[in-house]
Amino acid sequence: MNIAARLFELDDFRGQAPIHLRADPILQRQEQRESSARSYPRRIPLVLSEAGGVYVRDTAGQLYIDCLAGAGTLALGHNHPVVIAALHDAIASGVPLHTLDLSTRLKDEFVDALFASLPPTMRRGRIQFCGPSGSDAIEAALKLVRTAMGRRVVIGFSGAYHGMTAGALPLMGNLAVREPLGGATGDAHIMPFPYDYRCPFGLGGESAIDAHLRLLEQVLTDPESGVPAPAAVLLEVVQGEGGVVPAPMRWLQGVRRLTRAAGVPLVIDEIQTGVGRTGSFFAFEQAGIEPDVLVLSKAIGGGLPMAVVIYRDELDRWAPGAHAGTFRGNQLAMAAGLATVKHVRDEALDLHAEQMGARLRAHLREIQADFPAIGDVRGRGLMIGVEMVGETVAFDGPAAPPGDGGMARAVQRACLEQGLIIEVGGRHGAVLRFLCPLIVTTEEIDEIADRFRAAIGKACATHVREAAE
Ligand code: PMP
Repeated sequence: MNIAARLFELDDFRGQAPIHLRADPILQRQEQRESSARSYPRRIPLVLSEAGGVYVRDTAGQLYIDCLAGAGTLALGHNHPVVIAALHDAIASGVPLHTLDLSTRLKDEFVDALFASLPPTMRRGRIQFCGPSGSDAIEAALKLVRTAMGRRVVIGFSGAYHGMTAGALPLMGNLAVREPLGGATGDAHIMPFPYDYRCPFGLGGESAIDAHLRLLEQVLTDPESGVPAPAAVLLEVVQGEGGVVPAPMRWLQGVRRLTRAAGVPLVIDEIQTGVGRTGSFFAFEQAGIEPDVLVLSKAIGGGLPMAVVIYRDELDRWAPGAHAGTFRGNQLAMAAGLATVKHVRDEALDLHAEQMGARLRAHLREIQADFPAIGDVRGRGLMIGVEMVGETVAFDGPAAPPGDGGMARAVQRACLEQGLIIEVGGRHGAVLRFLCPLIVTTEEIDEIADRFRAAIGKACATHVREAAE
């Protein structure tokens, strides 16, 4: 079998005719039959047929560069030869594909590879295999720290996204999904996140970091802060769904110092940032800190479902079965995950992600100079956000102009017509998100930037015309 032959080339993409999105009967059936809660197909109305590397092809035969990549899951892109070969090998080996949380040689090897990717002190920790979604691993992490600490409240941050399950929702910044559930509150205390472009203190820069840390210190130490002593502080190093908001290094170091001083476990959610995406294997490494609890999913399954929690031995105070679940032993996910973790490390794809991300950000900043509708370009590695602010909005105050979700959606649609799949997110849906596979090449990055420039040109022209009418 020639696996490599399935990959597409940039020339295939460049050589194709302009894209006209067509109504596919499968999409119509999807709209009729699937739940109103369906999400991505509303903005990305494609029926996919094949994929390889950074490319996906739809049933109309059009190729797209996939800068969504399974919401950051596909570190090695689609159908990478090492992942496909690992899956074939696992099937050929006769390993039971479903094992609950019983062990296999493959599972043991996967844990070895994952632990070898951790900073040395964390290798002495423990791992819990969870149900295969990031949300389930967050649920497990919350139970773990609540049991160990004998406390309920968890401190989280504005703009955070930790999943859609009942325990994770109160820690989500976005209230829109919480409101129909009566707010989905409970046992969470939300604090401001250092979002430099929209600093909640109106400060920005170094003084904003000081202000954020001072407030956290007060909550953790003032006996009359009004916030019960927490079981943990939970954060993303780069907020993903919140609009690609990287936490400043000094803030991360400060949070680590304050949580350690207060004896409160620090839980870092690297579900989206882990496995090389931000320019280091784990995003926390860049700040020179270590969490007490690390939550992983997405890329660690190599494109198949898997989620784990890794934590300090001292926290291991929960009872047998305290977090169970049927699907914790997906051997194919372990095979794909093992191949992915090894390949990212062997090929130093985290450093490659850093270089490719810097290149894309540089292109995007050049584009920003020509389009005032781009308010901010930010990110780390291949986790990049472009915040749209809508050039027709006059704003005199000291803060950033309001985000423009309508404009972001228009650009997303124009990108699709250019053959680029990107996601929107962030406050008011105003942030365009790039989560390219880590294997993206220099030429592909340049092509992405060219296509984005063309798309934003079209979207801005239409938006301004519509606003004038
Ligand atoms: N945490 C973070 C940081 C995430 O990005 C996500 C998913 N986007 C989750 C948790 C939830 O993961 P899942 O969708 O697999 O439940």
